Order: sequence, then structure tokens, then C-alpha cells
Amino acid sequence: MSNILEVRNLKISFKTFFGEVEAVRGVDFNVEKKKTLAIVGESGCGKSVTANGIMQLLPQPPAFYKEGKIIFDGESLLEKTREQMEDIRGNEISMIFQDPMTSLNPTMRIGDQIVEGLVKHHNISKEEARKTAIEMLEMVSVPQPEKRIRQYPHEFSGGMRQRVMIALAMVCKPKLLIADEPTTALDVTVQAQILDLMKDLQNKFDTSIIIITHDLGVVADIADRIAVMYAGQIVEEGSLDKIFYEPNHPYTKRLLDSIPRLDMDKKKPLHSIDGTPPDLYIPPKGCAFFDRCKDAMKICQDNMPEFTILPGDHKSRCWLNHPMAQKEDN
Ligand code: SF4
Ligand code: MG
Repeated sequence: MSNILEVRNLKISFKTFFGEVEAVRGVDFNVEKKKTLAIVGESGCGKSVTANGIMQLLPQPPAFYKEGKIIFDGESLLEKTREQMEDIRGNEISMIFQDPMTSLNPTMRIGDQIVEGLVKHHNISKEEARKTAIEMLEMVSVPQPEKRIRQYPHEFSGGMRQRVMIALAMVCKPKLLIADEPTTALDVTVQAQILDLMKDLQNKFDTSIIIITHDLGVVADIADRIAVMYAGQIVEEGSLDKIFYEPNHPYTKRLLDSIPRLDMDKKKPLHSIDGTPPDLYIPPKGCAFFDRCKDAMKICQDNMPEFTILPGDHKSRCWLNHPMAQKEDN
């Protein structure tokens, strides 16, 4: 198994008038070729900053990389020049967002936008690019592509716009697709269709995917591995089965409790997670989940838990895994 992406000890901060915000605090993960990694967590946990950090789409300043490495297809992205990154973005790594209008240009016909992307990265004629654009729209199930290629983004429904954005992101057959909350604004049926479409294109093009979401339920059908982020750190990482059936970290368990499931007891209420994540102007010394954790112990407040390696390529950052935990507090 080889990795298309390796992120090592990535730390990204923002300089603000009030001081430094440590948005990403030492994140490590791999994305295997042709596989899907889901990064899951509440808003503000650093998942979008991580994604935009990989793409180098963060405005610098105020953002800055404090430490770490991002290795894509064997090469260090943080050592690339701006021009080299422009060649990689949209070609080898593409990104899709919750709001298609962040990637679509409202003043340009969608065909021209897809053609522009192709011609920029590949040595092909406009005529060939136009043919490819039509094929791509067909592939994402946009009806009557020859006609719709001449239309503007506002002439499409929300779900169709999402399909167009995916066509635009996938037309150069990227090795990695980063999808930041791609289905959050859509209703459940369209959500499922878009996820199916992403899986389908992944198989066709051998693309690896990072999907970012606040909703663990969304990734059940698509992810191979899941990294759960909290307050700028990954707190648990494992295969889909480990995270869904043998969650270890109290935060992951609370996230799972907040997903509606078909097999669940209708009388049992869904639990939202009380409280708010810590302020990352002054990151906590100990476990960041301390204030919201029902299982918190004395040691958790001032001492940052390290990862415990669990059976089956699974890891979790919680003091409850320490052999002394039971004896000390319970
Ligand atoms: Fe809860 Fe302590 Fe584990 Fe943090 S380290 S999640 S506070 S038990
Ligand atoms: Mg976000």
C-alpha cells in the first residue's frame, strides 16, 4: 500500500490583533492511493484549515505554517514555488466545496470554465477540450450536456451545480480530490447521489479522496479511514469499522451518539454535545476535550494525552487508555 499524501506534524497558526491562534496543532495522517480518508469534527476544529493548508490556499499572512511537512506523491508541497503550486492545483489535486459558487465563476458559461481548466493544464486544442467537457458533464449525469455547456451557473439547480463543480474538479483526473463539506447544503437524497457520484469517479480515475465533514453519518458509505479532529488535533484515527463499531475516544463516541440511525430506538433522544471547544488563542495544556468530557480525570486537565496504539491500525489520544487510569480515578 502506498500513500498519495503524507501529512506530518502540521502546525498552522493565524496572527491576529489579539495574538496567535493555533488552528492546526500538530496533525499527522496519510491518504492511501485510491482510498478515501474522512476528516470529521465540529466547525472550527481545524479541518478546513488543514485542507486549505494542503492546497496552500490560506492567505499568508495572517496564516503561517509553523512546522510540519506535506508530502504529495513523494514531493514536498511546502517547498514548491507559487507557480509550481498553480500547476498542481486543479490538475493533480482538486478541491470541491459546500458552495459550488466558490469554485464556479458566475459570469462564465460552464463549458468555458471546464475548457479553461483543461487547456491551462494540458496541451490540447479548445475543440478537444470542449469534447472532453461534454463527456465529463455526461459522466456526472448532467442531462443534455451539449446544450447545458453554454449555460451559466445560475441556470442550474443546487444539486446540478454541485455536479458541474465535480466535473470541473475531476476533468484533469486529479490524483487527490479534497471535498470540504460537499453535501452539507443539499437535501438527503441529493446528498446520497453526490456521494455515489464521487465514489463512481474515484473508481474510474483511481483518485484518492479527502472528505471533510461535521457529520460522521455522511461518511459511512464512502470513507475507508476516519480521522476525528478536535481543537486543532486529531484525537482518534482508524478504519471506518473501528471508528463506527469500536470507537475509543469520548469525543468520537459523542459524535456517534449525535447521528440518527435507522436501527435506533425511536424513544432514545439524539445527543448533541454540550459546551463549546476551547479557545485556540490559549490552547489548553492538557486534553482539549476536558471541559466537555464526562469521563475527565485529574490528569486530563494539565497533561496532554499521547496517542495510544490500539489493535487493528487504530489510535486514540485519551488518558483512559493508560493502564493506570482505572486505578487512579475510578
Ligand atoms: Fe476525557 Fe480525559 Fe480522555 Fe480527554 S483524556 S477525552 S478529558 S478522559
Ligand atoms: Mg469548514
